[in-house]
Amino acid sequence: MAVICKAQSDSKPMNAAATALKQYFGYDTFRPLQAEIIEAVLAKKDVFVLMPTGGGKSICFQIPALVQDGVCVVVSPLIALMKDQVEALQANGVSAAYLNSSQTTAEQRNVEADMSVGKLKLLYISPEKLVSNYTIAWLKKFTINLFAIDEAHCISSWGHDFRPEYTQLRTLKESFPQVPILALTATADKVTRKDILEQLNLHNPTVFVASFDRPNLSLTVKPAQDRFGIVHYFIKTRPNQSGIVYCLSRKGTENLAEKLQAKGIPAKAYHAGMDAKARAAVQEEFINDETPIICATIAFGMGIDKSNVRWVIHYNMPKNMEGYYQEIGRAGRDGLPSDTLLLYGLDDLIMLREFAQQSGQAEIQLEKLGRMRQYAEAKICRRKILLSYFGDILEQDCGNCDVCKNPPKYFDGTVAIQKALSALLRTEEKVGSGLLIDILRGARTQELLEKGYDSIKTYGVGREFSVFEWQQIILQAIQLGIVEIAYDDHKHLKVTTFGKDILQQKRNVPLVQLEQFNAETRKKTAEQTPKEKPVSEAELLTQELFELLKEKRKRVAEELKIPPYVVFSDATLQEMAQKKPLLVAAMQNISGVGEAKMDKFGKGFLGVIVKFTIEKAKQGAKITGSTYLLTYDLYQQGKPLEEIAMTRNLNIGTIGQHLAYLYENGYKINFDDLVSPQEFQRVVDVYLALNKPEAAKPIFEALNSEIGYEKIRLAVAKYKLM
Ligand code: ADP
Ligand code: ZN
Repeated sequence: MAVICKAQSDSKPMNAAATALKQYFGYDTFRPLQAEIIEAVLAKKDVFVLMPTGGGKSICFQIPALVQDGVCVVVSPLIALMKDQVEALQANGVSAAYLNSSQTTAEQRNVEADMSVGKLKLLYISPEKLVSNYTIAWLKKFTINLFAIDEAHCISSWGHDFRPEYTQLRTLKESFPQVPILALTATADKVTRKDILEQLNLHNPTVFVASFDRPNLSLTVKPAQDRFGIVHYFIKTRPNQSGIVYCLSRKGTENLAEKLQAKGIPAKAYHAGMDAKARAAVQEEFINDETPIICATIAFGMGIDKSNVRWVIHYNMPKNMEGYYQEIGRAGRDGLPSDTLLLYGLDDLIMLREFAQQSGQAEIQLEKLGRMRQYAEAKICRRKILLSYFGDILEQDCGNCDVCKNPPKYFDGTVAIQKALSALLRTEEKVGSGLLIDILRGARTQELLEKGYDSIKTYGVGREFSVFEWQQIILQAIQLGIVEIAYDDHKHLKVTTFGKDILQQKRNVPLVQLEQFNAETRKKTAEQTPKEKPVSEAELLTQELFELLKEKRKRVAEELKIPPYVVFSDATLQEMAQKKPLLVAAMQNISGVGEAKMDKFGKGFLGVIVKFTIEKAKQGAKITGSTYLLTYDLYQQGKPLEEIAMTRNLNIGTIGQHLAYLYENGYKINFDDLVSPQEFQRVVDVYLALNKPEAAKPIFEALNSEIGYEKIRLAVAKYKLM
């Protein structure tokens, strides 16, 4: 028989790692690659990790920090990120601190003092601070178990987020040759990756490349007609959710936020042109769930760890796949289903081409734009395209993109294409898409009349299609290589050789079915509150409780002045809402409830669930365990057990059993009112004499039926906890 080698994951250090995962973070299992990475780190190897945003990189150095002697030093580029991570660690009962230029000398001295007494497990530090002679000498006094370099791509000028301070980290290995280095990043192409390894002087590093797939993110691309209508509808169908709309320009963010506000949607703008204070305030409100929706330029999101961003919209097409992936990656870090939507129109393409050409790196930028465009125009699973761009292969269609959900249907577009081509040729290819559509639809615009296009043979032959439909037809014609945009000639459309072929040989052109939703109907739909999908009663209860738990979270967060998602993630609250734990033990089983959070917040959230369950059970809802709570509710109202039994139509022994069970699980019961000290003593004597029987019956009989079942059960419960 083959011996199955169960990795070293059964080893002692890995057991300690798994214990720490549950104890501090409340998670039962590692995410893909986390265990392997931690194992390599604990083996004192230099390690490089490429993992997408939300993949769970932090745990990879936080767990080793917790299970080893000494302190882990984490290099992080952004002050806001450091603060966030330290707060999150502290909420989990981990002793961590940060050092950076935003602190006063006194604050820095405090951190140094904590280090001196061995209090810290993790120290976050900015790169420039770390490499100063003072800090290096100071750190040498301590046992450092690991240097974790977060956002390691910042070291490479090839990467898209180069930070000169990071290059100073090159000397780290010289100063601390014995300390392993863990470099982590979410964005690194092959060149950047090599650069990181070299610059950090990693010694024979173990490289981990996680899958870039984020299956919880849905991918949708829509033709951009009536962008505002689409966005408004999208937001209205997702009440109480937090999201980001990325716009191309500063002005665009402001306009959109204003228009949304006018529709009663709490949105605010964020862009680099705002003064620092106003910007920080908007960011803070977003993080604290006070302003759920931000219309932003791509400057927004970097350095925000908020795990419950439920959706991301691109109001315009981004200029490359790297940016797009990073931006949509800000949704759903907690792993819950989250939606992304990209609006794409010909105008985006024309504008982005101009930007690219002016960028000074025209060739590469245009190439990148081309890849982005292929993605936006794809008729096959979008996730396949996205992942293949990053070197990942997805074997099966994802089922969570618009193409998978609505595979394209085709219609015979031959006649439409012929009309368009013929009109185009009759203008001597001197028009762009807008004017061509006007000609086809027989519009009477000034430009058209001035140029005399109303007299050509194909004027008005295309009235059967709306403007929006013609836009889609022309876009498809461009995608199919039938016409092309002459960027060097006023962006006029030109018929390609292939297009001429089609005209002459009368070849058939299948086109993807056109979106029927025109601006008018979309506007009407957006005005109405969309109908809710039918949901089961159990789901409704879960949703209602989820909202109550979010409110509770907000109150707790305000009181402690930490972001709500640091208290508990959406994923954790969702699991609570669904499982409705009524006991401490059940609460501890919820993913994300570690020991510290159980102590600090557990009871409060249990209280919300218990109250909710009692209320709903009284109205007849069936919730597991609610019968205990209905008994407890009457008990708390001061009713004698006999009366509770009558009201609930249960026998009194059962009532006693309910209360005994709740008592054993941490509920308050006032025993002296229920069982006298003499009765208690008699029960315990018999219980012990009979060798602690499970059932109450032998005790009842040994006591000659003189003490009721309810008292026996309560007395035994009390004894057990003494
Ligand atoms: P990254 O730094 O890679 O973007 P994070 O470390 O911030 O990702 O983790 C993203 C989210 O996933 C966090 O909310 C984190 O608590 C959660 N998470 C990480 N590891 C696990 C795990 N093993 N089980 C459940 N949730 C996890
Ligand atoms: Zn797909």
